[in-house]
Amino acid sequence: MTDYQSLGIRPVINAYATVTKFGGSLMPREVLSAMNAAAGGFVDLAQLQQRVGDRLAQLTRNEAAYITSGAAAGIELAAAAAVLNKHPEALKSFPNIAAFKNEAIIFRDQRNPYDYSIQAVGLTYVEINGSPAELRAAISQRTVCVFWFPRGQAGANGIELADVINIANARDIPVIVDSAAQLPPVENLWRFTEMGAALALFSGGKDLRGPQSSGIMLGRRDLIDSIRSISNPNHGLGRPFKVGKEELMGLLAAVERYLQLDHAARAQYCEDTVGLFCEALNPLPGVCAEREFPNEAGQPLPWCRVTIDPAALDKSADDIVQAFLQHEPAIAVSPLDETQFHLNPMTLNPGEEIIVRAACMQLLAK
Ligand SMILES: *Cc1c(COP(=O)(O)O)cnc(C)c1O
Repeated sequence: MTDYQSLGIRPVINAYATVTKFGGSLMPREVLSAMNAAAGGFVDLAQLQQRVGDRLAQLTRNEAAYITSGAAAGIELAAAAAVLNKHPEALKSFPNIAAFKNEAIIFRDQRNPYDYSIQAVGLTYVEINGSPAELRAAISQRTVCVFWFPRGQAGANGIELADVINIANARDIPVIVDSAAQLPPVENLWRFTEMGAALALFSGGKDLRGPQSSGIMLGRRDLIDSIRSISNPNHGLGRPFKVGKEELMGLLAAVERYLQLDHAARAQYCEDTVGLFCEALNPLPGVCAEREFPNEAGQPLPWCRVTIDPAALDKSADDIVQAFLQHEPAIAVSPLDETQFHLNPMTLNPGEEIIVRAACMQLLAK
């Protein structure tokens, strides 16, 4: 049988987050059966991409939707759409677009490794700190878009997304929101675009629990149609980001499921699990466990911060993080620094909290 074990790979219990490095999330039954059904028949792939997009747009109250091979691919395609918005003739020029408008505005404190995808299109960053006046001054004849990476609840230095949208839209500059991990809350599927953002990007393989190599782009039809012109079955910048029929149908099933999900019950499971961890860990000498809300990604779910006294335990938090991975079964927790790590309930399968608690009792004992 072809499985992880046959490759010498140990499966991991995920008490970290919907991190790509451990596989994002697990696809539920509805998603797997949609993918399985899709695998059983040939189809006109471009037509399927269009119809799944239309359905997703309707379900998420957006004008249009496009299924990408992940949020990072979505950033790249959205950046290309912003260039095509000003220069429809740029179709076959990427990434050599110096002859065109080629500037993307981004906020300094939102810089992150994924913004490389903007540069890959050929765009140049104009980096600003973020006051409204600074944004107004940064918009030039060469600007094609403004990128916004929501980070938790906070706005960038002194500016909120609503201000960014007002200022950019008044100059006909699309605002693109990388909200890859901004689910929950489910309302974010329409919130950013209803605020006036041109496009919002989400990972399909994080909390949506669709295929790991999928993503959704939601928003303006004209921008999304321009992406079709450079993507399968057409050739251009988007062609390497082809999405298969199984991913298309799996992602659709994932969004349908997510919209029906009992989000309150799920949040309650996270509360109960954090409570369970705190109750079990706090009596241990040299260990302090506390509920934190929201979690690091700003999702409205609690997680558990564990602080240890390395002198008392004779090991650092990093040693403990490594020991969790060596544990049988292997457990991934979220590292923070030499004295702290987090236990995140959002990616646990119900029942696994008991295994994680038992591992904690063993690894955090003096
Ligand atoms: C995860 C993430 C991405 C990449 O998403 P993929 O779906 O893995 O391509 C991009 N931006 C941010 C902020 C993310 O958290």
